[in-house]
Amino acid sequence: MSALTLAAQRAARDAGRDLVEDALARARTASGLNALITLEPAPTTSGAGELAGIPFAHKDLFCTRGQRTTCGSKMLADFVPPYDATVVERLAGAGAASIGKANMDEFAMGSSNENSAYGPVRNPWNTTRVPGGSSGGSAAVVAANVVAFATGSDTGGSVRQPAAFCGVTGFKPTYGRVSRYGMVAYASSLDQAGVIARSAADCAEVLQVMAGHDPRDATSVDRPVDDYRAALVRGVKGLRIGIARELFGAGVRDAMQSTVHAALRELEAAGAVLVDIALPTLPLSIPAYYVIAPAEASSNLARYDGVRYGHRAADAKGLRDLYSRSRAEGFGTEVKRRILTGTYVLSSGYYDAYYLRAQQVRRLIADDFARAFGQVDLIAGPTTPDIAFKLGEKTADPLAMYAADINTVAVNLAGLPAMSLPAGFIDGLPAGLQLIGRAFDESTLLAAGQALQARTDWHLALAPGAVR
Ligand code: GLN
Repeated sequence: MSALTLAAQRAARDAGRDLVEDALARARTASGLNALITLEPAPTTSGAGELAGIPFAHKDLFCTRGQRTTCGSKMLADFVPPYDATVVERLAGAGAASIGKANMDEFAMGSSNENSAYGPVRNPWNTTRVPGGSSGGSAAVVAANVVAFATGSDTGGSVRQPAAFCGVTGFKPTYGRVSRYGMVAYASSLDQAGVIARSAADCAEVLQVMAGHDPRDATSVDRPVDDYRAALVRGVKGLRIGIARELFGAGVRDAMQSTVHAALRELEAAGAVLVDIALPTLPLSIPAYYVIAPAEASSNLARYDGVRYGHRAADAKGLRDLYSRSRAEGFGTEVKRRILTGTYVLSSGYYDAYYLRAQQVRRLIADDFARAFGQVDLIAGPTTPDIAFKLGEKTADPLAMYAADINTVAVNLAGLPAMSLPAGFIDGLPAGLQLIGRAFDESTLLAAGQALQARTDWHLALAPGAVR
């Protein structure tokens, strides 16, 4: 079997295949990747709609009514939501058939999927490598040909980085474009649902279903959704693409730089104009992000108290003991580290020095992007400084793990849409080209993605671990 695209799935459906049964069988074949926490088809699908009968997987932080939603945590091991997330509702409404819940870093905190309480996910290109995180399971099930697409969430790169590591296409919409209702919260001012699929064209179709205003999410924006399929054929003739020097900065491996430049020359050959630009405050995005995200997380995760829902310690002596034991038992090391960091930067005496400063830097970063978008239509660079690293390589050094997010977190701080496109291989492992767009200009990103994928076939390459 070749790469599993929506077109391939529709052809199989029209030929009479049972797509869900086939996907479940492939999921079992690929079970060594540990990409799914729960393999269980959603009870009902409408049988009609744009994605009728097409199997997919949800990252396990989208609440699914009647089906457990763990968020990669022991804290929510037995949590069965009484309602569906808006994204879940919309995809079901379009007829798409969920086959289960994808593995992820606990509470979406991580860049390697090694923080999951359900064990690490393995990269289908090389099972000794990480798939990236936090949507590592979502990227792996697509790269392994189990399903044609999967949902993800991107707070600081969690759709784009695993897509890059697994050689698939990942799309993170503008903050507010897709409803966060029913998505377990990590850092609310940064979280945004996204999609991982084979191609920009397939991302466009899924995004069309996911996007749009939702009165149940106060940060969802009431603004018409573009026709993404129509946007795909726009091409890139005359489009100005800014090559941001800082995205090719220190720490970005030489081979990554040359590989991504070669992919950009394909866009140039398709008619785009490459322009050098600067994003001078980009290097500050890691410290700003790793103050703001933990601060918001410490507040969001305060709700897991052992009383209302989630893990409850068995033999607590009094209320304080119940709180501290339930949280000590339910949360993993990285989540605790973030809660401690976040509580610290928000505490009186440190608030001004850390949290307020980080918010000021966030503004500078957004201003940098705004200035750049006065000159160009898209901004480009590598999605990651290097290819997928080895399992265990960075687990002992959280700062090294954080530093590897250098090319993705600024986009979330500025609330912009971005995508990662397969851009070739280094030492046999995929490299990703990141394109960043203006707020609510998902269309131009998708058009550029399609233009690249119309002349290259990196996105169709099959990993050794893919089901054939
Ligand atoms: N790696 C980043 C973090 O650990 C981003 C995660 C995400 O986008 N959810 O916070």
